[in-house]
Amino acid sequence: DNHDSKTKDGRMRVGIGYDVHAYGDGDHVTLGGVRIAHTRGVIAHSDGDVALHALCDALLGAMALGDIGEHFPDSDPRWKGADSRRFLQHCRALVQEQGWRVVNADLTILAQVPRVGPHRLLMRQNIADDLGVRIDCINVKATTSEELGALGRGEGLACQAIVLLTHGDNAHQHGHDGH
Ligand code: MG
Repeated sequence: DNHDSKTKDGRMRVGIGYDVHAYGDGDHVTLGGVRIAHTRGVIAHSDGDVALHALCDALLGAMALGDIGEHFPDSDPRWKGADSRRFLQHCRALVQEQGWRVVNADLTILAQVPRVGPHRLLMRQNIADDLGVRIDCINVKATTSEELGALGRGEGLACQAIVLLTHGDNAHQHGHDGH
């Protein structure tokens, strides 16, 4: 593949990600970098943030760089209990290294419980900060599974993410100022 940036100008790449974790013992879940009090926790090597894991996979997918398991193996003690925002920040660095820019990301959290709505704005802000984009480039929505299946029985939670990258013009890249 040709890595000359001129050849990629105007190119776009789309990526998709999905993650699921089972509930276990605990008193909170972490979603989009937001700690949400809950009657259960999430079984995971890291903090089990399905939203950020799905988003990382979408970013890696768009760049054809494999998946989150390759970049942050759960056999690696460095990632035990890790804040998944570190994963997302690492993915942002890869996006920048390769000359890509995030156009937008859209996430759907699938969880019967806990309620996600009150935390959506903060999740969007966390993600926008970590990716260096405006908050209006990031959407987070949530749906229950209408009590169907494992997710509907509240055995775990999941997230789908899709992201669009473009190459070239980085003039619209924003920093951590939230503007
Ligand atoms: Mg995961």
